[in-house]
Amino acid sequence: MTGRSDESGEPTATATDRGESVRRLDDWDGAFLRSLAAEYETPLYVLDLDRVRANYRRLASAFPDADICYAAKANALGDVLETLLAEGATIECASAGEVQRALAAGASGDRIHYTAVNPPERDLEYVLDVWADEPHLTITAGARDTVERLADAGYDGRLALRVNPGVGAGHHDAVRTGGDATFGIPADRLVGVAEFAVESGLDLVGLHAHVGSGVLDDEQVAAHREFVGRVAALAEDILSAVGPVDFVDVGGGFGVPYRESESPLDLDAVAGATRDALVGVDADLVVEPGRYLVADAGLLLTRANTVKETPGTRVVGVDAGMTSLLRPALYDAYHDIRPVAPGAADRDRVAQTITGPICESADVFCTDRPLPRIDREEPLAVGNAGAYGYEMASTYNSRPRPASVVVDAGSVSLARRRESIDDLTRLERNRADAGTERAPGAAERAADGTSPATDGGSSTEVDE
Ligand SMILES: *Cc1c(COP(=O)(O)O)cnc(C)c1O
Repeated sequence: MTGRSDESGEPTATATDRGESVRRLDDWDGAFLRSLAAEYETPLYVLDLDRVRANYRRLASAFPDADICYAAKANALGDVLETLLAEGATIECASAGEVQRALAAGASGDRIHYTAVNPPERDLEYVLDVWADEPHLTITAGARDTVERLADAGYDGRLALRVNPGVGAGHHDAVRTGGDATFGIPADRLVGVAEFAVESGLDLVGLHAHVGSGVLDDEQVAAHREFVGRVAALAEDILSAVGPVDFVDVGGGFGVPYRESESPLDLDAVAGATRDALVGVDADLVVEPGRYLVADAGLLLTRANTVKETPGTRVVGVDAGMTSLLRPALYDAYHDIRPVAPGAADRDRVAQTITGPICESADVFCTDRPLPRIDREEPLAVGNAGAYGYEMASTYNSRPRPASVVVDAGSVSLARRRESIDDLTRLERNRADAGTERAPGAAERAADGTSPATDGGSSTEVDE
């Protein structure tokens, strides 16, 4: 099996080597994961940058003429952004904070697309401030109001319009929820808003659409084809109303197989469908993947605290929970889970329910799942946690967020220290040092050699 990340035997993918199209949880080496859990403690996010690169190169080779704009919200760790910038990606930022992270990772303005979804005034001010120094950044507006606010603020830079095409992958559900209307300019208003933008002096450079996540099977690829066809027609409308644009951005949503039974996305089929639909449109293609680049590059290590036999199931309480990985609680998402002890795969499988330490009934990773019998104190790995994992972590129940390590060319380093108990009160007045003396050892453990900040101040002034 390839894709193991420990023995430095993993070849670095090249432009012609598109890498394995899927990495399953079983492909990670157990001994390596045990050593990480022992050295860095749990819960711990592990992210393999070599796998991020391989995923990027596979996508880039399927879409050779496209700009790949990484949706930072999937995983905004600086190491990830730096890695993808070095591969040639642009960064799609959904907030001022993500713009700040992109800049901190070394992105120049021409590598930053800021998508203003109902942008708070503070975000617009921040981004316009950045624009003053980085005039090549692109702002994507999803409402006429946003265009108007930008124009009023004196913005005459690069603008893309996000349209809600009304169809696409998952469009059967979208109509029902009505939530779909949140994102983008209604298709029948698009030309009017484009004309307004141009009259207001903005530099209209692109059309953007993103309809949601999870194109994976053939049916979804067919829906994607329909969606891109619709976007192409809208691009033609814009072209004939206000003239040429540089790019058409068809969003992200490239799915990954979370379940063992699912096959990886047929990238060539998606790329072919996209190319066919856009063949008559004279503009560059932009794709905007998040999950696809990082999901299977990451996992979450946790450890069993409590094992309880109940009449119906064996309940295993672990030290990670919905505050470390929210997807199961939020979306009922499936993540593969395995004990990483030697020989664990050979144990009998029993129905087990894995829960976190949070006082919420939703704090469950899996229910009655047949898994090798798990013992107290043993480490477990939760797969496909590289996307929307740490980004959705919180400190609910006053639980510090996990540490993150990265694997790069086979070597491991701490990318983000574990939050300490003291970090929890750091933003409160007069509470800066509250826990320091009561948590012997915690500060050093948490910091892994870096001393925890105890000054209560923050280096960037954002809020009062
Ligand atoms: C979330 C998001 C993406 C990425 O979605 P994935 O499913 O992670 O690929 C791309 N574009 C926009 C505008 C998004 O909001």
